[in-house]
Amino acid sequence: AKQQGRNAYEWFTHAFTDTVSERMVLRNDLQEAIEREEFALHYQPLMNREGKLAGVEALLRWEHPDKGFISPARFIPLAETTGQIIPISEWALQRACQDMQSLAQQGLGKIRVAVNLSPLQFQRSNFLATLRQTLLTTGLPAEQLSLELTEGILTDNAEGAIDTLHALRSMHIGVSIDDFGTGYSSLSYLKDLPISTVKIDRSFINELTNSYDDAAIVQGIISMAHHLGLKVVAEGVETEEQYQRLLGYQCDIFQGYLLAKPMPLEALETFIAHLSP
Ligand code: C2E
Ligand code: CA
Ligand code: CA
Ligand code: CA
Repeated sequence: AKQQGRNAYEWFTHAFTDTVSERMVLRNDLQEAIEREEFALHYQPLMNREGKLAGVEALLRWEHPDKGFISPARFIPLAETTGQIIPISEWALQRACQDMQSLAQQGLGKIRVAVNLSPLQFQRSNFLATLRQTLLTTGLPAEQLSLELTEGILTDNAEGAIDTLHALRSMHIGVSIDDFGTGYSSLSYLKDLPISTVKIDRSFINELTNSYDDAAIVQGIISMAHHLGLKVVAEGVETEEQYQRLLGYQCDIFQGYLLAKPMPLEALETFIAHLSP
């Protein structure tokens, strides 16, 4: 037992040190990535009930020179703790707006883009000023931008957050609550918030056709959201069966591999050009 205990301790310290140094390496690499602009945005289409394009979600990609593609699920949480998320997010917002302008100039339509916001970004005192500046310099009409925030943003500094949400509404920028259902908050708080959309988390959609509980939750979210005048997006729709079920539940907008995967701008141009009018 003593032997085992020591091994476990060694393993633990070793693993721990590894994680810390790994994080330091990643942090340095992130700094270089920011300076060298190693990031890209991919766009995933969102489709409405008629099968028409309702908009796209901008998703960050980091192409590391040696390590290859690094998932945002891995580097965004780190960038949040180091504050590096700020320059990365500002770059992403700017790029998303520019890319939508480029689609419009090519006659592909005024596509609405949803950009993910980090809590840190949302809480900054100059957040709204930066946003206005970006819309001004890119020329993107505010109606074409929407922002995705998670429930956590609203529980941290609820009052400040609600003021910011009202300002966004007066600017005609849409706001979606992302990963809805995974937080601890209830639906009731939604009735006081100036938001336009809820996005049901992928984990519920995943289990939709296997679990009565998840099916009940999804149905409940959709019907309550509709009573509150909100639109509902289902994310992570992967099967025809899930899609049909969601159509039956009156879900408004669908996003997932079944419909389209995230893609670079050039592929999105082709995707849009081939959609039936
Ligand atoms: P999210 O906002 O929930 O984004 C949806 C994620 O689900 C994306 O992962 C997307 O590629 C993936 N996805 C979409 N459809 C399907 C499907 O049918 N099946 C499966 N298995 N996955 C699907 P991705 O691109 O890896 O992004 C992960 C997370 O990183 C995002 O989750 C978001 O929280 C964060 N993120 C991405 N881009 C940004 C950004 O620009 N800023 C910030 N702050 N966070 C971002
Ligand atoms: Ca999102
Ligand atoms: Ca989401
Ligand atoms: Ca999610």
